[in-house]
Amino acid sequence: MTVSLTFLGTGNAFADGGRSHACILVSAPEGRILLDCGGSALPPLRRACDPSDVDAVAITHLHGDHFGGLPFLAMQQKYAPRGRPLLLGGPPSLERLFMDATRALYSDFFDTPLPYDIRFTVLTSTPARLGPAEVMALPVEHVPASEPHGLRVRIGGKLIAYSGDARWSDALPRLADGADLFICETTTYSIPDPVHLSAKEVVAHRSELRCERVIATHLGRESIEHLGDLGVEHAEDGMVVEL
Ligand SMILES: [Zn+2]
Repeated sequence: MTVSLTFLGTGNAFADGGRSHACILVSAPEGRILLDCGGSALPPLRRACDPSDVDAVAITHLHGDHFGGLPFLAMQQKYAPRGRPLLLGGPPSLERLFMDATRALYSDFFDTPLPYDIRFTVLTSTPARLGPAEVMALPVEHVPASEPHGLRVRIGGKLIAYSGDARWSDALPRLADGADLFICETTTYSIPDPVHLSAKEVVAHRSELRCERVIATHLGRESIEHLGDLGVEHAEDGMVVEL
């Protein structure tokens, strides 16, 4: 069974290097799920597939470069043929902030009935079904107000772990344990950051990450300047990885 990942957005909040905001399309025989849907995710998503084929979206935390694309996806789907619910999973405040953001961007969005249901699931450390995948969310250390979590996603017989945004903590080895692929934020190359990881830290802790493969994403300016010597494989916008 093949699981295919398309890195639609590999940038940080500032879109350094012209990279789109965080979004990873996971395709498996069971269906398609997005991991994060940052503010600029819809254009690369539309280049990669028909958004109506996306069953679900799992959000790591409530910063715009990770969930800000949801109002645009919901709006596009309002006028696209979609005969089934859109499943959104994430932190406890996802539903409230999605509603606030969508009303702020399109004040008329809810004036007419949606031709499809939007269903919300709060992701927790108990594995839960989210469309084609079984997903669990583990708290990580980032800006607390964003309700930061990392994800463990079982789909197509594979286990994908994703840090979301996080500084180093013991949560990350637990998150990555046994994964076929750990997608790890690597915002800086060596500059310490109180809420993000550097490539130096990822490399220093690599032996603690008991996973097959690590791919760096959420790349900021300094990381992009050091792509050749990050010491860890890195993602590019549009890159496809088969598991
Ligand atoms: Zn971010």
